[in-house]
Amino acid sequence: MARVALVTGGTRGIGAAISRELQQAGRIVVASYAGNEIAARQFHEETGIRVMKFDAGDFAACEKAVAEIHEEVGPIEILVNNAGITRDTTVAKMTRDMWDAVIDTNLGSCFNLCRLTFEDMRSKKFGRIVNIGSINGQAGQYGQVNYAAAKSGIHGFTKALAQEGARFGITVNAVAPGYVDTDMVRAVPPDVLAKIIARIPMGRLGIAHDIARGVVFLTADEADFVTGSTLSINGGQHMY
Ligand code: NDP
Repeated sequence: MARVALVTGGTRGIGAAISRELQQAGRIVVASYAGNEIAARQFHEETGIRVMKFDAGDFAACEKAVAEIHEEVGPIEILVNNAGITRDTTVAKMTRDMWDAVIDTNLGSCFNLCRLTFEDMRSKKFGRIVNIGSINGQAGQYGQVNYAAAKSGIHGFTKALAQEGARFGITVNAVAPGYVDTDMVRAVPPDVLAKIIARIPMGRLGIAHDIARGVVFLTADEADFVTGSTLSINGGQHMY
């Protein structure tokens, strides 16, 4: 039986590449999104992948969505917490709403969906969870105290949950992408982006499939000895 995978924010950018690669790997994929109907419809038409609109930062909405997937598709065995947003500014100008939105969407969503899928994974004695962190959670970034805190939180969350999951056959890992050519990065001013690319040893931005291939590796049935790790995919920009 093919395993069911949920990819949050799976209709655009990195998430869309993850959804496509998991489908190619034989998974039954459900891709969630927040509100961009045009992108979601186009993605569904191109791939046939089921799309679902719900706010990954809202526990009640996640609960309803997970129950619906369980009922109509099957229990989720592979979870990719990819949904993420930025609300960048310096701390002096950051509002509490900008802080809350980024923490809820980027980090709260990981709690919500892990909490709601863990029982099923435990009873199946199989689970693959991949949380998408960021180079900016590892290294920090000017104008991103909210985003860096959320992404850095993901790395701690991953290591703690990996310890809870191990004896049930559930692996929990993180992928920390560097700068990847998606809508999120296209929003960065061109002069700032040029300076960023100059600091990437590979001399280019990543593409979404660079990240997706890492997720396919970590979610493979055979990757059962890899847990609590962070896979950095960043063209050599940050090494530690
Ligand atoms: P995009 O902005 O291109 O896509 C974001 C996706 O997340 C969209 O599908 C969006 O839905 C969805 N989304 C946003 N908020 C929510 C929410 N509350 N509930 C459900 N879905 C939501 O982002 P990227 O592809 O660039 O980034 C994907 C992940 O990778 C993020 O976690 C990001 O932080 C991380 N990352 C990205 C890097 C990059 O360089 N691009 C670098 C490092 C990490 P909708 O289409 O409806 O808006």
